[in-house]
Amino acid sequence: MKLIFLGPPGAGKGTQAAGVSAHFRVPHISTGDMFRSAIKNETPVGIEAKRYLDAGELVPDSVVIDMVRERLAMDDCKSGYLLDGFPRTVDQAVALDGISEPDAVVEIEVRDEKLLDRLTGRRVCGKCQGTFHVSKLADAHTCPVCGGEVYQREDDRPETISTRLRAYHEQTEPLIGYYSGKDKLCRVNGDSRVEDVFKNILASLE
Ligand code: AMP
Repeated sequence: MKLIFLGPPGAGKGTQAAGVSAHFRVPHISTGDMFRSAIKNETPVGIEAKRYLDAGELVPDSVVIDMVRERLAMDDCKSGYLLDGFPRTVDQAVALDGISEPDAVVEIEVRDEKLLDRLTGRRVCGKCQGTFHVSKLADAHTCPVCGGEVYQREDDRPETISTRLRAYHEQTEPLIGYYSGKDKLCRVNGDSRVEDVFKNILASLE
């Protein structure tokens, strides 16, 4: 199964992708996570990508496409993949069609007002990478799952969020037309409980 998760920042793509990739036994490939790890390890890609992530802007297509091409060539992608956060532009989608055409695209829809609350309240555990809303944490600095330290992503600060939402509407939303034209789009409402969104995603894929 070759899947793409499409949706604005804060729609819950990462959370849902973890469950859906386990369900279909395919690797969950998040380009955002790949960039964050490259930045942490100070690789050439990380050094180039950092300023774009800090500003909430998209990393240039050529950099992302090369990174994804290399990742999809790995053995674990032979049975398929779930791409979370890629493609984000029509040029990236066209490039992906040339590398490995997806079977289906899940678009998770959430209103901008809701996204703002989710993103400003999002906290990530530095140890297990779990994500939580700050309002649900008994202790704002401690992961309720593994006890690790939780932090706010640099690009989840209010000044960067509006740039990210604008990038989504201007550069990524055209992909909805691109994939519905190919009859590959499944639209799912992301504004309900995590378990319900998960069920709806599986139902729409069937
Ligand atoms: P995410 O974790 O998916 O919200 O991605 C975090 C940041 O990584 C984005 O704001 C971009 O700067 C960068 N990024 C991730 N995926 C892509 C992509 N497909 N194209 C361009 N930039 C990306």
